[in-house]
Amino acid sequence: MKKRILTGDRPTGKLHLGHYVGSLKNRVKLQDEYEEYILIADVQALTDNFNTPEKVRENVLEVAMDSLAVGIDPKKSNIFVQSLIPEVAELTVYYSNLVTVSRLQRNPTVKTEIAQKKALFGQDGGSVTYGFLGYPVSQAADITAFDADLVPVGEDQLPLIEQCKEIVRKFNSLYGETLKEPEALLGDIARLKGLDGNTKMGKSLGNAIYLGDSEEETFNKIRNAVTDPNKIRKDDPANPHVCMVGYYHSVFSKADYECICEECKAGKRGCVDCKKQLAQNINNELAPIREKRAYYENHKDEVKQILIEGTKNAREITKQTMEKVRKAMQIDYFNNK
Ligand code: ATP
Ligand code: MG
Repeated sequence: MKKRILTGDRPTGKLHLGHYVGSLKNRVKLQDEYEEYILIADVQALTDNFNTPEKVRENVLEVAMDSLAVGIDPKKSNIFVQSLIPEVAELTVYYSNLVTVSRLQRNPTVKTEIAQKKALFGQDGGSVTYGFLGYPVSQAADITAFDADLVPVGEDQLPLIEQCKEIVRKFNSLYGETLKEPEALLGDIARLKGLDGNTKMGKSLGNAIYLGDSEEETFNKIRNAVTDPNKIRKDDPANPHVCMVGYYHSVFSKADYECICEECKAGKRGCVDCKKQLAQNINNELAPIREKRAYYENHKDEVKQILIEGTKNAREITKQTMEKVRKAMQIDYFNNK
């Protein structure tokens, strides 16, 4: 029997280069070897976007199209919608007894995200709902509902996988060996930085190059990226290590990276040409993805059908998990099997 992958994205915006290098490439690579379930986490997205449901709704299809565009094959992998799997909501309720509020408040991912919201939206961004504080519990339910072995994620998610493992251990020690501890799998670049120099490119941070951006949009974003402030003229020597264009070259122009750094340090590389070269390399990598995305944009009914199928398959698994969980927790009252 194949091992299982559970992974996913929040429908808070289109997917970007951070997703691509952090998680999507691994999902595509592993879809033959593993049985793969890709969650569109609309319930999780609503925890901090409950007042803009139209944004979440719109992006369910956008995220699905991004997944298909990078090469997720719906014949091999299942893309599904979280809110249509009631077993995940049920598990979340049971798991919420196994986690203390102070442990959630100490979760590094939750802490960072609250700080980011404060920075973006002022004090208002810091007001934390019960639902948002509890989203690591719901994520543990996502993973374990599928008995997942592996979870391909970006580095920001590691504390959430750790929290999931703690819940599994607690559940098993209380109710008997029932759930599996998952392992995280990081991508080549575990955390891609944002165009603004932020330590993470993020949908909700407004600092991303999206997979669906046009060639021109990509170039314009790179043109405005943060560069070495000490470089004023074309032939001034500069430091590629404090420049976001230099940083992205290290990811998307690997073969030329050393030479690019040498030229930059020696003042032999103008910023305009350097940005054009980077845009060219990123655009080359994105060209086949954009082509596939355009196909799905014109065939949205096909995308919806893929989600319906994927959700149906996903529910088969979660129903089985719930039988085990209810039995372990002694709440399988009228089940005579
Ligand atoms: P949001 O800002 O709404 O949280 P996001 O950009 O963080 O959006 P998610 O949907 O939360 O995207 O993350 C989906 C997956 O992509 C997760 O596994 C996450 O770790 C990974 N990921 C997101 N951003 C990056 C990044 N900059 N580098 C590497 N991996 C990333
Ligand atoms: Mg995120």
